[in-house]
Amino acid sequence: MIYDKNANEIIYTLNKNGYEAYYVGGCVRDALLGIKPCDFDITTSAKPEETSAIFRRAGYTVIETGIKHGTVSVIFDKKSYEVTTFRVDGKYSDSRHPESVEFVSSLKEDLARRDFTVNAMAYHPNTGIFDFFGGREDLKNKFIRCVGEPVKRFEEDALRILRALRFASRYDFTIEENTSNAIKQCKALLDNISAERIYSEFCGILINSSCAKFFRNYVDVFAVIIPEILPMVGFEQKSRWHIYDVFEHTMVALENTPDDLIVKLTVLFHDMGKPIVFTEDEQGFRHFKGHQKVSCEIAEKILRRLKADNKTRERVYTLVLHHDDRIPLDETAALRLIRRVGEDALRAIYVEKADNLGQNPVMVSKRYSELNELQKMVEKLIKNDEACIYLSDLAISGKDVIACGIKPGPRVGEILNILLEEVTEKRLPNEREALVDFIFRLF
Ligand code: ATP
Ligand code: MG
Repeated sequence: MIYDKNANEIIYTLNKNGYEAYYVGGCVRDALLGIKPCDFDITTSAKPEETSAIFRRAGYTVIETGIKHGTVSVIFDKKSYEVTTFRVDGKYSDSRHPESVEFVSSLKEDLARRDFTVNAMAYHPNTGIFDFFGGREDLKNKFIRCVGEPVKRFEEDALRILRALRFASRYDFTIEENTSNAIKQCKALLDNISAERIYSEFCGILINSSCAKFFRNYVDVFAVIIPEILPMVGFEQKSRWHIYDVFEHTMVALENTPDDLIVKLTVLFHDMGKPIVFTEDEQGFRHFKGHQKVSCEIAEKILRRLKADNKTRERVYTLVLHHDDRIPLDETAALRLIRRVGEDALRAIYVEKADNLGQNPVMVSKRYSELNELQKMVEKLIKNDEACIYLSDLAISGKDVIACGIKPGPRVGEILNILLEEVTEKRLPNEREALVDFIFRLF
């Protein structure tokens, strides 16, 4: 069922030395789902020092990744295999880290400390699957269910709350009722978890097409990490353009985006400013002037708090700020968009398409067809090697600018950008002579 040449060799080597060893966790789950596993974790009765010694002796590189927690990485053909000793976690005092781990001798005990039934199965190439907690049955029924008493398991480690949502969202599973209730009951424990770990799980939830379903069902849980979500819930737009409140509009938009993190984050945040900036006219219609700026400021604050990387934060900021630009369907405008956001030009279109599908179809269907055309145009421009899109496509380089008498420094880049603008706006041909002449005339 699961076969990886190197992992099999690790397992058999441990067996030959008198130890038990099995494939465990995500790789068993994914193989049973018919998904090719990306990495193979192994669990063994050998103590970490023993594992380490066995593979060193056999000539492998061994990294003592987390020897205190029982994990040793064996490097095979440049791939790393985590081999972890059967263990149970000691007492948790802070819903985060066990104070200690204790090595144990039975596979069953090791599987019992794992988070969900579908993650608590092991496999041996000779003897097959070990499934003590009904993982296979839950996979069949598409259930995420804690191993053991859910509230206790979330109190031990609150990150499991987000892990449950991540696995459910990734495979479009249902969270089993007791586990689901415990998630809601224990949500406040998420306050104990570090921003980095939250962000990583949060992205894992968001990136899937079924994520909106989980935002809807667990909005109060998400509000513990992103309280800025709550003002959107039930906030009526009272506008001819809209048939949903801001939250539901955002959810429908999320359901209509590709599984791309930048696009998903942008769509999630794009209208968060609406409940802050809204005004109501005499007819009772609402207007949201300036919501783009307020929304991108909220996005920025959230992404800083969650310790997202700078690049992601900046890209999302720009896409949220410009989400209502309504780029016209013409080549110069398309080139201007590409010049401004580079590789994110297509993402800007995906965001507007999603936004559009969350609005009143009577009002926006014409624009949707236009967006399809615009998307084709941008795809063609990006693919076309002849088109002048990036600074590197210009017929002259920084060196040539300096040769025209401009002092080396930031001014050179500024001038190149001006030239690129002139060319993409079709005011100048992308020809060496014309560009040099332009520099001499103006600078
Ligand atoms: P992925 O495909 O996302 O890597 P995975 O199941 O391999 O899924 P990991 O985070 O790599 O998930 O963890 C490996 C295994 O370790 C899990 O399958 C689970 O058995 C166990 N595990 C990981 N984190 C926890 C946790 N917080 N509490 C209990 N068990 C955990
Ligand atoms: Mg894994």
